[in-house]
Amino acid sequence: MTEQTLPLCIAGQWRLGRGERYASYYPATGEPVAWLNAANVEDVNEAIEGAHQAFLHSGWAQRKPHERAAVLYRIAQLIREQAEELAQLQRQDNGKPIGETRNLVASAAGTFQFFAAACETLEETITPSRGDFVTMSVYEPMGVVAAITPWNSPIASEAQKVAPALAAGNAVVIKPAEITPLLALQLARLCEEAGLPKGLISVLPGKGSVLGDAITRHPLVKRVSFTGGTRTGKHIAHIAADKMMPVSLELGGKSPTIVLDDADLDHAVAGVLYGIFSSSGEACIAGSRLFVARALYEPFMLRLCAAAANIKVGNPADETTQMGPLISAAHRESVERYVALGLSEGGRLRLGGQRLTGDEYDKGFYYPPTILEGLSNDQRVCQEEIFGPVLIALPFDDEADLLDQANDSLYALAAGIWSRDYKRAWSLGRKIQAGTVWINTYKQFSISTPFGGWRDSGLGREKGRLGILQYMEQKSLYWGMNERPLAWASEHREVAP
Ligand code: NAD
Repeated sequence: MTEQTLPLCIAGQWRLGRGERYASYYPATGEPVAWLNAANVEDVNEAIEGAHQAFLHSGWAQRKPHERAAVLYRIAQLIREQAEELAQLQRQDNGKPIGETRNLVASAAGTFQFFAAACETLEETITPSRGDFVTMSVYEPMGVVAAITPWNSPIASEAQKVAPALAAGNAVVIKPAEITPLLALQLARLCEEAGLPKGLISVLPGKGSVLGDAITRHPLVKRVSFTGGTRTGKHIAHIAADKMMPVSLELGGKSPTIVLDDADLDHAVAGVLYGIFSSSGEACIAGSRLFVARALYEPFMLRLCAAAANIKVGNPADETTQMGPLISAAHRESVERYVALGLSEGGRLRLGGQRLTGDEYDKGFYYPPTILEGLSNDQRVCQEEIFGPVLIALPFDDEADLLDQANDSLYALAAGIWSRDYKRAWSLGRKIQAGTVWINTYKQFSISTPFGGWRDSGLGREKGRLGILQYMEQKSLYWGMNERPLAWASEHREVAP
């Protein structure tokens, strides 16, 4: 690690931020990975003003879609060429195991490629005419849009917003999480290297309550695409309402995974474990509430706990590690408070529940796979997002009981169903309230399939071919084909000479 202070990307300049100096820490050791100066509100204003000027004068918005797409394809290619460096950087920035960060980098490259294709194949439509005119529906870029992202999957979250926003012809300001700024900065470098005009992308690390708020309120920002906690999302939605500004909000979750009595248990055990414990449970779509058919409950729990006890927790640089540390000491304390709360609410520990200690565990913010049972769905640990490796297991009696419990949540982001009976799974999948339902799989993603939540889990959708339209304004064009002047005016002329 170098003590050198990293420059930020502000309005086409690489220069130091004007805010406080701080470090990004490696969660596996608590040691600094990089030092940087946060942006301050002046930097925010400069970045947005610069983005606005670049939007107006760089010619990006006026380039033909296939020309913009060529730059996006090049960004995808550069991400692939530097995949290993990016994956290692993300591992250090947020402590995820290297296998996982490699997947996130590959997903970011795929996202740029996908939205390049969406850009050059987007069709504007001629709508059925209902008069002496040809009617068209076309799309225009919005101007400056903001991408505000959390710390758990930086490069993938940022690509998901930046790629469609640029494809649509906009300028983008990225506000990465304060504690994971490095990938957004690197992405901005790659965008410039790929030929994106300067000023079209800025990166503003720092405190969300100050910078994110200033970005959201800025009159030149025409859209905010936000991923993060529900409380922050609601705050942004209030500001957006006052500005009449569209937003997309990808928020928290408390997703149920459901094991029916006819499930293939090998698949169900593997899927439930992956759903909650991969990424150390720091995933919005973590399957954190497990519902098991009562008849199957104890045998299933025995298998699940035995398999969970074998999960390899440790050094994220090790290729065989399945779970790395949590993001920070403060976040681990929050997870511990939730486990203590679950126990005080009458829960029993089936696994884990104690901070890991010894050797590398003493340096990083490790927490083991933890399974609680003996609780009811209305208790706080079953209703609030813990965002850590904590699974609450709950038995159910029949479908009515299951639906009552599984759908009883403020959140409705995702759900998983394990059953060999495709008709039962289909019927249940339609009744579960969630933005995404996985049947006999879990936590699988495809950039071609829209993603988002219901209720407190969010508003709007990202991904999918039409995801690009989130970053465009729709416009209707009427082309008059009249042989004679409009009747009203000509009749008027005749009556009143
Ligand atoms: P957070 O809401 O604290 O922060 C997210 C981003 O918002 C950060 O960049 C932060 O600096 C910024 N921010 C904070 N206050 C702000 C304000 N007042 N105005 C504008 N921006 C502000 O969330 P977090 O702790 O970084 O991330 C964890 C949360 O993100 C979890 O709730 C998780 O479920 C959610 N998440 C959701 C998805 C999804 O796609 N639904 C994906 C990943 C994470």
